[in-house]
Amino acid sequence: MQTPSSPAVASQWLVVTDLDGTLLDHAYDFSAAAPLLQRLEQQGVPVVPCTSKTAEEVEQFQAAAGLSSPYIVENGGAIHFPHPEEGWRLDIPHQPAPGGGVVAPLGWPSQRLRPLLDSLAAELDTQFFALADLSMEELMARTGLSPAGAALAARRRWSVPFVLAEDQGQYQAVAIEAVESLAAARGLKVLQGNRFAHLIAPGSDKGLALAALRRADPLGRAVLALGDSPNDTALLDGADQAVVVPGANGPHPRLQPAIEAGDYQLASAPHAVGWTDAVTTWLALG
Ligand SMILES: [Mg+2]
Repeated sequence: MQTPSSPAVASQWLVVTDLDGTLLDHAYDFSAAAPLLQRLEQQGVPVVPCTSKTAEEVEQFQAAAGLSSPYIVENGGAIHFPHPEEGWRLDIPHQPAPGGGVVAPLGWPSQRLRPLLDSLAAELDTQFFALADLSMEELMARTGLSPAGAALAARRRWSVPFVLAEDQGQYQAVAIEAVESLAAARGLKVLQGNRFAHLIAPGSDKGLALAALRRADPLGRAVLALGDSPNDTALLDGADQAVVVPGANGPHPRLQPAIEAGDYQLASAPHAVGWTDAVTTWLALG
């Protein structure tokens, strides 16, 4: 990984990070980054989760990590500001959030998206399995979550996560790229995450949510973004510094070309260890 050409001042940055596969490993562990997260919170450097997780899941993470920052849920479906009194400029429509503070919706409600997923499947002559249709046992098996964690993960408001048909039986197996293309041709977005693909509204991805977060930032801070999957590219592309956090087998193959082109930096190690190293380096925390 390169090092910054000039020393950064931590207070001039927002750290915007994907969670699953980036800060969290596949057992949802971020302990190697816990001391740095505490330090950033104390120094007033916002660490903004930008994730496919639901608001309830991120609230649980924020509590465990000791963070009070805004957070972006469901692949950019909404931004939550748990402490709007901290000077965030909320000139976009927002409403009181169930978990406290306010939420600014950016996407479409899941109820509007769900029938559109079914029509994509029909057009591709295949079947998708929406997260909401999986049994609790299946959801736990696919995510490794506890029953309580899986229940929080199922509370979708702004996206429809799904898995593709996996066998060659009565339905055609299709590549994620084909689903992405058809969705784009229909004015929708499909994003590939670690465990699920996600159908979201055309006006809502992580990059558009990042742009809304920047407009709400009264200090106009620079953005250090970290991600691991193709659903992070809009976030990474909208950042001032973009870092890809590799998995145990290296970076996601679809992110490799941008790493080789020098558009994204590659963290030195997987998950929380690489995350800590990258953030420490770019914010010149020493
Ligand atoms: Mg991820």
